[in-house]
Amino acid sequence: MTFEANTLKKAKIILVKYRLCDRCLGRQFPGNTMNNRARGASLRKAVDQKSLNSEPCFICSHLMRSLLDIGKRAVSATGKYQFSTFAVGTTISPRLSENEDALRAEFKLRGGETIKSEITKEVARTIARKTGKQRSFRNHDIALLIDPLLGSTQVTPSSLFIRGRYTKRIRGISQKRSRCMNCNSGCPSCDYTGLSKNTSIEGEIGDYLLKKFGGSRVIISWVGGEDHQSLVLGIGRPFFAEVQKPMKRWPIMRAKNLRNGVRIIGIKVLTGPPTFSPRFRLRVRATIDLVEPISKKVLDRLEAFTRKEVTAYSPNKRRYFRKMVYSVKPVSVKEDSFTAKIYCDGGLNIKRLISGERGEVRPSVSEVLQTQCTTRKERPFDVLSVALERSVGS
Ligand SMILES: [Zn+2]
Ligand SMILES: [Zn+2]
Repeated sequence: MTFEANTLKKAKIILVKYRLCDRCLGRQFPGNTMNNRARGASLRKAVDQKSLNSEPCFICSHLMRSLLDIGKRAVSATGKYQFSTFAVGTTISPRLSENEDALRAEFKLRGGETIKSEITKEVARTIARKTGKQRSFRNHDIALLIDPLLGSTQVTPSSLFIRGRYTKRIRGISQKRSRCMNCNSGCPSCDYTGLSKNTSIEGEIGDYLLKKFGGSRVIISWVGGEDHQSLVLGIGRPFFAEVQKPMKRWPIMRAKNLRNGVRIIGIKVLTGPPTFSPRFRLRVRATIDLVEPISKKVLDRLEAFTRKEVTAYSPNKRRYFRKMVYSVKPVSVKEDSFTAKIYCDGGLNIKRLISGERGEVRPSVSEVLQTQCTTRKERPFDVLSVALERSVGS
């Protein structure tokens, strides 16, 4: 290997004044024909300077010597994680970078790689070679933070996003976890979670996903919600979940009966956060109580709900919004009640659509039938299907 006379001259002056290891010397003279260590070694040979033995390098002390060991330790730190891509970062003492900057300023050296980037590049190379996984700056499965001085590696897995559906076959379970009754942010009775230990769909699904993916936390986004006394039948209600810090990224997922009549199906890992569209439609079956018997002929008035826009007032949000009802079809009639199937936009309160609740939904079933209609407290309505208007995520 031949070097320009100017390069050789500079290398010689530097080596007379400072002790540098091959990597730290080579790094100051960028080139693409060989790696930093080989370039440093041949420069040293060309200017006839002896190599470093036990003396510490001015820039890195002895750090660059142990790069392979640092890489091997990083590989073993990844052992319990499933991943196909990784990123590497490092926390080196600022003194190392400062030494390098001072040398570059003194000898007007430009364009070389920094010590930090050489460390991460070399460690990443070792990991890639030993695990067969790929380094990726964006969208990596795990991020490694290496502290070369302590010899430690911190592994942070990126969140995993999944979609799935659930069904519910036992009444009396709420969808969301309620807050702990004894505290605001955490106490011994709630294991410092701030959440009640009462059974909920969120709790059942969350516990299962945590166990399956070995994550630290699960955050569920719901596609609508039902009354705690409602059942969710058919193929179930869709949901999306973020699993934080998962150790497993591709466990085998099958339909699974969880506790308390909750079942999850169709779990699929997405390639990234879902582009969430909350628009959905649902079909429910409701048993509607009447204050007086009505004839089948009167029930024919429910045809008024064929593609009917209703206006709903949300008392807690203090705003009006419009939703479509596509059909309300009576399926069986008794003396003091009837059962109907309702097909409508998601986000409409079914109980209020039936009762009218002080004019909060107009028109309501009560208004159309001109008699007060109510849902039963212990079994208000059951969800037959929930369909997202377009598929989201991938
Ligand atoms: Zn060095
Ligand atoms: Zn508590």
